Amino acid sequence: MRRALILFVTTGVLLAGCATGNKLQAQGRSVDIAWNPAPGFKPAPEQYPMPTPELITKRTDIRKARYPAIDIHFHARDWSAAESQLKLMDEMGVGMIINLDGRFGERLETAMKNAAISDGRLINFARLNWEGVNEAGWDQREADELERSFKAGAQGLKISKRLGMGWKNTDGSYIMPDDARLNKVWAMCAKHGRPIMIHSSDPPARWRPIGPDNERYEAGMWRSGAKGNYYGTDIPNYRQLLDAQERLVANNPKTIFIAAHMACRGWNLVEVARLLETYPNFYVDIDARLQELGRQPYSSRRFIIKYADRVLFGTDGNPRRTEDFWIPHWRFLETDDEYFDHPAQMINELGAGLQGRWKIHGIFLPDDVLKKLYYENALKLLGPKVREDFEQLQK
Ligand SMILES: [Zn+2]
Repeated sequence: MRRALILFVTTGVLLAGCATGNKLQAQGRSVDIAWNPAPGFKPAPEQYPMPTPELITKRTDIRKARYPAIDIHFHARDWSAAESQLKLMDEMGVGMIINLDGRFGERLETAMKNAAISDGRLINFARLNWEGVNEAGWDQREADELERSFKAGAQGLKISKRLGMGWKNTDGSYIMPDDARLNKVWAMCAKHGRPIMIHSSDPPARWRPIGPDNERYEAGMWRSGAKGNYYGTDIPNYRQLLDAQERLVANNPKTIFIAAHMACRGWNLVEVARLLETYPNFYVDIDARLQELGRQPYSSRRFIIKYADRVLFGTDGNPRRTEDFWIPHWRFLETDDEYFDHPAQMINELGAGLQGRWKIHGIFLPDDVLKKLYYENALKLLGPKVREDFEQLQK
């Protein structure tokens, strides 16, 4: 497994929409978030892999999801790897995958065409074209384009964290998630009953100084560069970003928002619960946050059971991810196995996971909750075409 991980890293990784670790370079697209070096940053030795535990404990032999999982958060670019992905999906028990990189125009057309071999199992979400965001008429232009994307088959819209952390107003300030010029876009999603997958903010440790008491540093991040650390930069604080995301959800009650990465609040499930209680149009997915959830297994289990109708399954995976990535998801959700590796989103050259230097524990969700998480909730949000295709697949 280790060799696979190292290979995976050295071939270069695109962690679309997600910041990259110290040696990991985003390829194939520009990452325009201001990666300013934090003041006082000094390189430090690389982090080494976790020690081999001597613990002997149950390890469930699990390969496939118990029910056909719908991965609501995946980065497949234009589905050029559709064929091999479908094969892996069959092996892993994945029913459908939502590609958040469908974009718009020609790219969306290509993604739809490549996905067409899948009988509806490979699905695309659209994105906005942010070019000209400060020009008059951008909002109408994008609402119209989005409508074309929906008619072309896009089942939802993805908004990346660059809203709030990347795109700027003409005065140099950041365009925040609750910016009024997006109202036409949100209304268009409501009109077509299409959900929005929105990523706002990042884990708080990214805003804290780089040093041994920062849990991300301890995990191995920022050993050789400050990329992805926002301390001392002009990027709005996570609290400002999260508050803006909450205002957005409050201001648009007819629009469905799925807040990615446990709403970027997986470190505070009490707050996620408050949002779910307050806003019926608010949903969360678990993608790329198994490290957060798996280190608080009792709280996570209680939380997902209580809010079983509002939590969706997602991985933040991409076509390069093999079974080593998928299986820990099933283990975490379905078994009571203890003290195992989370499916790391970022791994350094030595195989050390950069998002948490700790192990996770399974939360053995009951079958009815698993079904909701794996597919029932997604089917409720994704509209009739997807439901029909899913039913067809089960025959
Ligand atoms: Zn993502």
